[in-house]
Amino acid sequence: MEVNNDYAILRNKMVQEQLISRRIKNPKVLDAFRKVPRHLFVPSSLVHQAYGDYPLPIGFNQTISQPYIVAAMTEYLDIYESHRVLEIGTGSGYQTAILALLAKTVYSVERIAELSLNARKILQRLGYTNIRYKIGDGTLGWKEFAPFDRIIVTAASEFIPGQLQEQLAENGRIVIPLGKGYTQTLVLGVKHNGRVKQRRIFECAFVPLVPDNA
Ligand code: SAH
Repeated sequence: MEVNNDYAILRNKMVQEQLISRRIKNPKVLDAFRKVPRHLFVPSSLVHQAYGDYPLPIGFNQTISQPYIVAAMTEYLDIYESHRVLEIGTGSGYQTAILALLAKTVYSVERIAELSLNARKILQRLGYTNIRYKIGDGTLGWKEFAPFDRIIVTAASEFIPGQLQEQLAENGRIVIPLGKGYTQTLVLGVKHNGRVKQRRIFECAFVPLVPDNA
């Protein structure tokens, strides 16, 4: 269909101009961005902006992250096909779709039921069968399926929640925005000998991670 071809052209342009130009290198990550129809994950009134170089509102005061941020977080995670990945903050489900193309299974937790259900509807329609969805407080992780090889948090926290540190496998990686202001630092944590060692990646701006007891 002509319209779908147009979207494929927009996706290739996005990959070239927003990702490759900013040094996203992993071919599997770039391929995933060429495949996932981002326009299906934004509100219908914003479809024409779906491949723009910025975040977009998705309702409930939340946003779908800018493509480059999704790509950078994914690249730093270094996902293998055998990996079980925990995602905190399903939101639109776009990052979930990218992760699901790279990992064995994605466990995605979202506190706003409507967002989780909407993401699930789209992802199921697209044919993804390796994603598990949970509505609840992601700061608690998802104990039942721990440990996880990789953890990604797409909302900002002052520190890495203890449960997430615990549920990360040995040699596992976590990517999370840390800080309390309007902007934060994107951090890569690697777990060695039971301890998560942190490294700063770059400055970023995320909506806050809201625990149930807030
Ligand atoms: N990756 C998503 C980002 C959505 S914004 C996307 O690109 O669409 C961050 C999401 O984290 C929001 O949907 C918000 O509701 C969710 N969130 C915030 N605090 C949370 C918590 N404690 N547990 C689970 N999800 C949370």
